[in-house]
Amino acid sequence: MADPDCPFCKIFAREIPAQEVTRTQNVLVFRDLNPQAPTHLLAIPQRHVADLGEFVRSADAAEVGALFTAASHAGREASVSGYRIVVNEGPDAGQSVAHLHLHVLAGRSLRWPPG
Ligand code: 5GP
Ligand code: ZN
Repeated sequence: MADPDCPFCKIFAREIPAQEVTRTQNVLVFRDLNPQAPTHLLAIPQRHVADLGEFVRSADAAEVGALFTAASHAGREASVSGYRIVVNEGPDAGQSVAHLHLHVLAGRSLRWPPG
């Protein structure tokens, strides 16, 4: 299930250190190495899936719900007056790690549209 070459699988397995915020059996929320806001978290499923499209094709509602619930709770916890969840999929969106992750950004006013 885990991909031996995937950095986020290794973070989930505690083989690479990360600043963890919350962890359940299936979801981990940890701090981004290169934060783009005062709070910049990543929420990942344990299961190795390359991107959101692969996730929704293969996950059941409970698995999707658990990931978004963890991201929402982390965003609300960090929020001063709001937060943003971002998912990059594919080269045009700048996805650089091929293990689905939800960015959770908070702690400053965020511009719109992004990028
Ligand atoms: P993407 O560009 O794929 O949407 O986002 C990947 C994110 O993962 C980037 O914001 C990057 O800073 C973060 N990242 C990449 N490698 C690591 C790592 O080893 N540890 C942590 N904590 N974050 C990472
Ligand atoms: Zn992975």
